[in-house]
Amino acid sequence: MLPVTPGTGFATVGGAIANDVHGKNHDADGSFGAHIAWIDLLTASGDLRRLTPEETPREFWATVGGAGLTGIILAAGLRLLKIPSNAVSLSEERMPDLAAFLNGLRAARSAARFSVGWIDALASGDRIGRGILETADLSPEGVPVTPRKTKAIPVNLPKFCLSRTNVKLFNAAYYHRIPRQGRQSLRAIEQFLYPLDALAQWNRLYGKPGFSQFQAVIPDAAAETGLRALLNAVSQGGSASFLAVLKTLGAEGQGLLSFPQPGFTLALDLPRRAETGALLDRLEAITLDHGGRIYLAKDSALSAAGCARMYPRLAEFQQIAAEMDPEGKFASDQSRRLALRGA
Ligand SMILES: Cc1cc2nc3c(=O)[nH]c(=O)nc-3n(C[C@H](O)[C@H](O)[C@H](O)COP(=O)(O)OP(=O)(O)OC[C@H]3O[C@@H](n4cnc5c(N)ncnc54)[C@H](O)[C@@H]3O)c2cc1C
Repeated sequence: MLPVTPGTGFATVGGAIANDVHGKNHDADGSFGAHIAWIDLLTASGDLRRLTPEETPREFWATVGGAGLTGIILAAGLRLLKIPSNAVSLSEERMPDLAAFLNGLRAARSAARFSVGWIDALASGDRIGRGILETADLSPEGVPVTPRKTKAIPVNLPKFCLSRTNVKLFNAAYYHRIPRQGRQSLRAIEQFLYPLDALAQWNRLYGKPGFSQFQAVIPDAAAETGLRALLNAVSQGGSASFLAVLKTLGAEGQGLLSFPQPGFTLALDLPRRAETGALLDRLEAITLDHGGRIYLAKDSALSAAGCARMYPRLAEFQQIAAEMDPEGKFASDQSRRLALRGA
């Protein structure tokens, strides 16, 4: 299998390179870019260039995590991981609050290959940051292969389905489905890695207005105060977020605009409401105050000034992108908003 994959199996190789994606195993295996031998890139001049970390490191590491701004990735050589079976041995445990959760994830960094936390983003007071910690390792024993059943959300759900009360009830039920003493099981790898893929068109859960995503990493030293502030802002705001995802990240990504840095990363889906823009601004300010970074793959609201502070190698990226595409042919709404190609 691929050594690193994001939380959906529907991403393409080009997309995985362009955001230097991370999985539930960043401490153990790094991000996607660490497993690429070469990239064939169609450049702005129409030439096909083969990029490698050894021979063209500047262009290679500008393209890994480069949000598609250096050219179009046509092919890539990937180093795969040999696995003993189609399953992971999974352990699920309730975490009663944020401090317990962070301790659980810290211990998992060296004890398990995979770890991920599902947080009840609406819990407040003593219970802020409660959720389920999942840790897993590749299992020598497999599970029977059964075709994966996909359920679909047939229509956009009406707004009341996402009322605060309903989401609170859903999150509480999700938390209590794991027995107090925890549970162990074997689970098919793709079921563990891509839980949302079983629910086709899950975006319809958020109704017609849709949702905004937010993901930030807060460095280890500031993690507890930073995450508490982010969760407080969400639980006090009007946007009732379903379960949020909390993971650890290991070493800094090598791509010039790679997201990972050592710390804890929190990902949220926020239903679009009138106040969502103001909430995202607040989350950006909290992230900056704690030395954190917002993930460009999930961003629709970051400011150019905030981006420049979070991505210290941005100027280096701009220089290389300008050399590779002097006329600025490759651009996006995001690259213009964040001045990723320069002012
Ligand atoms: C349910 C879900 C779970 C997720 N979980 C994670 C996670 O755990 N970790 C994580 O890191 N990310 C996660 N993501 C984000 C996702 O992995 C990234 O956004 C990824 O880049 C999407 O790839 P895509 O093929 O859909 O690309 P798109 O969304 O189409 O594009 C993403 C970026 O890649 C560029 N791009 C795409 N193809 C090419 C190409 N051929 N050449 C050059 N540039 C290209 C685009 O220009 C764009 O900037 C998740 C997303 C979803 C929906």
